[in-house]
Amino acid sequence: MLKDFFMGLSQNQFLNSTAKKYGLKMGAQSVVAGTNIEEAIKSIKELNAHGISCTVDNLGEFVFKKEEATAAKEQILEVIEAIHKNNVDAHISLKPTQLGLDIDYYFCLENLREIVDKANTYDIFVNFDMEDYGHLKPSFDLLDELSMEYNNVGTVIQAYFFEAGENLEKYKNYRLRIVKGAYKEPEQYAYQDKKDIDKNFIKLIEWHLLNGKFTSIATHDHRIINHVKDFVKKNDIPKDKFEFQMLYGFRKDLQLKLANEGYNFCTYVPFGNDWYGYFMRRLAERPQNLNLVAKQVFNKKTNTMIGLAAGAFLIGRMSKQQKKRK
Ligand SMILES: Cc1cc2nc3c(=O)[nH]c(=O)nc-3n(C[C@H](O)[C@H](O)[C@H](O)COP(=O)(O)OP(=O)(O)OC[C@H]3O[C@@H](n4cnc5c(N)ncnc54)[C@H](O)[C@@H]3O)c2cc1C
Repeated sequence: MLKDFFMGLSQNQFLNSTAKKYGLKMGAQSVVAGTNIEEAIKSIKELNAHGISCTVDNLGEFVFKKEEATAAKEQILEVIEAIHKNNVDAHISLKPTQLGLDIDYYFCLENLREIVDKANTYDIFVNFDMEDYGHLKPSFDLLDELSMEYNNVGTVIQAYFFEAGENLEKYKNYRLRIVKGAYKEPEQYAYQDKKDIDKNFIKLIEWHLLNGKFTSIATHDHRIINHVKDFVKKNDIPKDKFEFQMLYGFRKDLQLKLANEGYNFCTYVPFGNDWYGYFMRRLAERPQNLNLVAKQVFNKKTNTMIGLAAGAFLIGRMSKQQKKRK
């Protein structure tokens, strides 16, 4: 119920644009590394100082206007320039819908090509984050086209999809991030039960590690991390063949501990004004993350946002029920 509530909110266009006006609020400031490139670079330098590399996400998704997609592309190009100029240990994560996938496939392809090309000149890797099921195939198509020209690209395999194993085999020669999956997906495409998702997640990680290509294991789940530590030891998988990844601001102690133990560690560093959808998905994943909001709840603007959010959710539910009745 709570998961559905926050998932519903994550896709609400009105709340998304309202949130942009308010700046980082509702506790988002503890899991988003600022609103501009300078703040993001500062956070990256701090993480690098602890031996942690970063993947930078200029927040934004589900863009439906060409000028917004173009602006997002320009910002990502600036991030690439800033990574190079500051000589920090970081690469790029981006979402195809931010670069116009919902507007026009070829427009998005050209935006991505420009980004990948610039990153390539500086030897910077670009990861295509994976979004919901509706965008899965076109995102893989974009990757297929660009990987014919460049080898600094990779993507994500989401373990909740029934087809994840098939996709892993198809992309076995790529640098891959393996995750459980963050969106609400229909039963015909995805496991719904946490146990099934965890089981498939472990299976995919082991498969790609044994396959020998670089694997990013992206999870905050200490049980899975411990399992992977045992697995790599038993199978003599060298430490330079994989890394652990976590999101900025989450389990900071564990992030440092893993880096101090000598594992490659990469923090996903999101920044920018378009934080709302990202933040709502984090609340949907783990109700305890509401602690982040609770600390801010006496802030007047936050109360307005929560009020608007609850209102929008209730209206959404009521109209759905009415439609069902019809
Ligand atoms: C770096 C990174 C990149 C990602 N990229 C994508 C992507 O491109 N596409 C996509 O669909 N999804 C992506 N995700 C999200 C991912 O799919 C999951 O939704 C998300 O990571 C939650 O699953 P989990 O494995 O971290 O832990 P969960 O399944 O949420 O939790 C499992 C257990 O781990 C422990 N735990 C989890 N979080 C915490 C915490 N904060 N503090 C203490 N204990 C905790 C708890 O014991 C919990 O019961 C990404 C995640 C990361 C970390």
